[in-house]
Amino acid sequence: MTSPASAPGRSLRLPVRPGIVGTEPYGAPQLDVPHLLNVNENPYPPDADVVASIAADVAAAAGTLNRYPDREFLGLRADLADYLASESGVRVAPEQVWAANGSNEVMLHLLQAFGGPGRRVLSFAPTYSMYPEYARDTLTEWVAGRRAEDFTVDVDAARAAVATHQPSVILLTSPNNPTGTTLPLATVRAVCDAALEVDVDGAPAVVVVDEAYGEFRRIGVPSALELLEEYPNLAVSRTMSKAFALAGARVGYLAASRDLVDVLRVVRLPYHLSAVTQAVARAALRHSTALLAQVDALRTERDATVAWLRARTRDGVPLDVADTDANFVLFGTFDDRHAVWQGLLDRGVLVRETGPDGWLRVSIGTPQDMTAFKDALVEVAGL
Ligand SMILES: *Cc1c(COP(=O)(O)O)cnc(C)c1O
Repeated sequence: MTSPASAPGRSLRLPVRPGIVGTEPYGAPQLDVPHLLNVNENPYPPDADVVASIAADVAAAAGTLNRYPDREFLGLRADLADYLASESGVRVAPEQVWAANGSNEVMLHLLQAFGGPGRRVLSFAPTYSMYPEYARDTLTEWVAGRRAEDFTVDVDAARAAVATHQPSVILLTSPNNPTGTTLPLATVRAVCDAALEVDVDGAPAVVVVDEAYGEFRRIGVPSALELLEEYPNLAVSRTMSKAFALAGARVGYLAASRDLVDVLRVVRLPYHLSAVTQAVARAALRHSTALLAQVDALRTERDATVAWLRARTRDGVPLDVADTDANFVLFGTFDDRHAVWQGLLDRGVLVRETGPDGWLRVSIGTPQDMTAFKDALVEVAGL
């Protein structure tokens, strides 16, 4: 008798694509501990009013689930355009907005449309660990330029990297993950200008500014949305997962020229945004004030966390703490960061082991979370 292929001791051979052979799936640890400070979520769940509103709209959508959802979802795109106008003062048409299941999927659409075999996507490291995976999944070559010591992007180095690599897509992350660094609009503008000089099959490069943490930026820090009118090759991506306190709904979106968005419509799977997702997102957007109510408090807590960390020393040497416009703080450096990470976890505080060697990233939680984090860090790192 032959055993089934999945039986222990017998390995099933599969024709795995060379680019992913032996690769582990993405995974920030999902552990059940009291203080979850590792994936930059908003720690405040939706309040009862918002929950009731979402539930009512989902009930209405449930009655239509025998039909495919609205494939163009212009209702949701109009609501997102209104939200962007109120958040940043920049007004775009619904047709200039695109959405998908998380900005991860938006990014995948961008690379499916503008990347591909023989093409390159350029970003500036250290940056978001998912980008190389989107590149791999779309058979696009990943090229990492370098950020400066202080994690900013040097304009001349960026121009040179664009000219050298001739990427079809350039990813700028502002505020950057895991460093929290924002880019001045002058830098974004310089990269957009350099992108216009690229020649990929006779066309310039597309510049994507990932503003997943845009709502947390400090007062007076502008959004790249302000440059959309000038650059038809610019896309600015946002998400409802972070400031908007809706990570579980999986809704990300971008704003760009109509022409750029129309190309994304070609590569998306039909009906990629379920009727349930559309209903949840639209109900949540009606309550944006309530959902974003804690953003100011989170920013204040972030600035206080930065100040607290900067005042800590080990053997007389202060900790390094990156400037941050996001809802997390990158700090270090530790000779054995894994030991610090583990020590925090042993005390119920889950942070992220990411970024350059020796650094750790902590998301901003509730005041109780941050007290637990600080107490645990003092114990573990001997501050
Ligand atoms: C968290 C994050 C996202 C958001 O991902 P979603 O798929 O929208 O949840 C996008 N970009 C960066 C840099 C992030 O850190």
